Amino acid sequence: MKKNQFHLLELDYQLADLAPMMSEQTLKYHYGKHYQTYVDNLNQLVNGTHYEGLSLEAIVRKASEDTLANNAGQVLNHQMFFEQFTPTKDAKKPSGEFLFLIEQSFGSFDKMCEQINKAAKSLFGSGWVFLVMSEDGVMQVMSLANGDNPLRHGWKPIMAVDVWEHAYYLDYQNRKAEYMANFWLLVNWNVVSKRIV
Ligand code: MN
Repeated sequence: MKKNQFHLLELDYQLADLAPMMSEQTLKYHYGKHYQTYVDNLNQLVNGTHYEGLSLEAIVRKASEDTLANNAGQVLNHQMFFEQFTPTKDAKKPSGEFLFLIEQSFGSFDKMCEQINKAAKSLFGSGWVFLVMSEDGVMQVMSLANGDNPLRHGWKPIMAVDVWEHAYYLDYQNRKAEYMANFWLLVNWNVVSKRIV
């Protein structure tokens, strides 16, 4: 039997730890079922192809057909999403170089959050809102459909917000603004700020 190249990201928190902002039930489905399915699909899709052995990022960049691009994108998107949370509730706000780039690009940290909230609210259908950065350090907010990822558009993803219904429906139903308000309470800024390097 062939060894699987891709695996679920190991979490440094328990599935119950993000409640009540994100319930254990939501994470059981989202992390344990939805994300697992994308990982399984990706392993199957790259098996025996010229993509086998390439890094996840390389596959996301190079995938030339939609099924592979979406599944690889979803694996990378969910890896970023689940990695960027902490239950400690004392997550530091952005600081240093990261805060500087945010202020250069958006005016302030609060304005960046507002733009991301607005993008999440207005995203139609399933997709993601990303904080992205160009090679010269310019940041902006990018909305993408389905399993697309900023790497496919020449931008580096810094933060990933899942706006598929499976991310919030059990906890918030149609209350997307409430999902976003609580999302900010979970962000581990230490993890996110390392992504600008
Ligand atoms: Mn998801």
